[in-house]
Amino acid sequence: MEIRISIRSFLLISLLCSQVKAFTLNNSAAASFKNDEIKINIAEIDCPNLDNITYTDLLDIAQEAANRFWNTVPTSSLELVRGSVQSVSSNFYTEQICSNSDTNNCTPNAALVVSSDILISCNNNSANFSGSSHVLAVGAPNNIDGENINGALILINDSGTFDTLSRDEQIAVIAHELGHAVGLGHSQHDHNLMYYSSVSTRYKVGEDDSDGISWLYPSGQPFSGGCGTINLVDNEGPKNGFLTFLLGVFLIIVMRKLRNLIRPNYRAF
Ligand SMILES: [Zn+2]
Repeated sequence: MEIRISIRSFLLISLLCSQVKAFTLNNSAAASFKNDEIKINIAEIDCPNLDNITYTDLLDIAQEAANRFWNTVPTSSLELVRGSVQSVSSNFYTEQICSNSDTNNCTPNAALVVSSDILISCNNNSANFSGSSHVLAVGAPNNIDGENINGALILINDSGTFDTLSRDEQIAVIAHELGHAVGLGHSQHDHNLMYYSSVSTRYKVGEDDSDGISWLYPSGQPFSGGCGTINLVDNEGPKNGFLTFLLGVFLIIVMRKLRNLIRPNYRAF
């Protein structure tokens, strides 16, 4: 009996701990688009260092990024669809996505606000990319009203590096930025698309990606995404995991006490 209870206890703790999520959001309002079908549009901007990529290529890459990653999650209702090429101000090529310098607490630049859906543009303002050609792109909702995302912007660094990537890498980069555009922050684990760095393991939807997108855009089916636990800050995962472990131990002690209260004491006879 004691062995069976120990196994049951272990399973309970494991189950509870498995519900701790490591996905993050990129805005404190936990905002999301309220329409499930969101278009991905391309800005009609001449990009001198993306000369191997046409507007049609970018539409194809964005569509492939949606279909290979975010549109595949069965527990999410989100559907990213191919949009169109749109004429925009040259500000989209030259200005910063945030009007302040703190990209972790971005105040959207009013000159680049996207009225609806997601817009992808190239951009040559190095401040958007930490002054580095190795920062390939940046993306964020830049038109948020309460819990609603109205529009989001993705800027590709026109440094010449994006142009040299393989097509699979370009698709993964755009897919990662699409994750930011619909409200997700980074995952701490490198087997997720939303891991901050472009590593070889980032070419499929990971558990954090799936959980995050399903939390923001749940499908009509019940989603047992786990106890409402969600981290808004990257480094809260381990703390939440420990607290959940303590909760599991507490519940086991309570269960044992209740069992002893309602079970007849046969040894008294
Ligand atoms: Zn990122």
